[in-house]
Amino acid sequence: MNRVKIFAPATVANLSCGFDVLGCCLDTVGDEMVISLTEEPSVKITKIEGANLPLETHKNVAGVAVEALLKSYSKDIGVEIEIYKKIKAGSGIGSSAASSAGAVWAVNHLLNNPFTAQELVSFAMEGEKLASGNAHADNVAPALLGGFTLVRSYTPLDVIKLNTPNDLVMTVIHPQIEVKTSDSRSVLKQNVSLKKAIQQWGNLGGLVAGLCTEDYELIGRSLEDVIIEPLRSILIPEFTAVKEAAIANGALGCGISGSGPSIFALSKSIKTANQVAQAIHGVYSKTGLDFDIHVSKINSQGVKIIP
Ligand code: ADP
Repeated sequence: MNRVKIFAPATVANLSCGFDVLGCCLDTVGDEMVISLTEEPSVKITKIEGANLPLETHKNVAGVAVEALLKSYSKDIGVEIEIYKKIKAGSGIGSSAASSAGAVWAVNHLLNNPFTAQELVSFAMEGEKLASGNAHADNVAPALLGGFTLVRSYTPLDVIKLNTPNDLVMTVIHPQIEVKTSDSRSVLKQNVSLKKAIQQWGNLGGLVAGLCTEDYELIGRSLEDVIIEPLRSILIPEFTAVKEAAIANGALGCGISGSGPSIFALSKSIKTANQVAQAIHGVYSKTGLDFDIHVSKINSQGVKIIP
């Protein structure tokens, strides 16, 4: 076997209180990729459909991530990558992470799994470094491990897979406006007051405990961000109205997905998640902006093979 077709999932990073450390994997939103091993020792992006992204290996996150993997592999092999994009770049639901994670997962699979999941995360982070200048793991970790993940430490890298309560469903709205990662980083302050830090780590602990014990009310109470959201939400049109509509329609919590502009809401059932989607649709229809809304269960597997 030297060729595999995969689903490379979208992911929601930060999850309100877990800036740069928490993320979760979506089930029905993601790209498709076809990865082949070849004898000629080079990495080539042979096709990209659905987006205008660079074919040059060193400019595409999938190429950079696979090159990082091959540097640690003892034999000379080649890889060809086809990318069928469904997630728009810059959406805040891990478009670049889907490509990096999908590519390294598929190569590892074709090589009979010489690398651990933790190692794959570090290779995929090289792709994230290319996309945003920062080798963060909060999207690639859930894409590779599935479910909810926590980056406990970056040096050394220590990624922990958390429990995924069965009934959780995500609603995500992607307003089609551009929020540059550099802008959404530049509004952040470099210092945090002790009072806010205490609130934030209380919520982070609460969210992790809620996921592990499947306590949906605790999950809801903990989906609060007192540090990043107050600063970043001003870049997202109607953020407050969307959040109010989501909560009023039964969502456990709502916040910015990654660095935005996407907004996520977590609910306890598919029925509530659909109601939330409808309510958010109502809010956004009035803005005149284009937008997509996705409703997805949590994918506890991560990248997977598809026919
Ligand atoms: P997102 O949060 O949606 O991943 P980012 O801003 O982190 O958005 O990443 C998108 C950036 O990465 C864009 O500049 C895009 O051109 C670049 N990029 C390079 N290769 C890819 C790829 N295969 N998929 C998506 N984005 C890519």
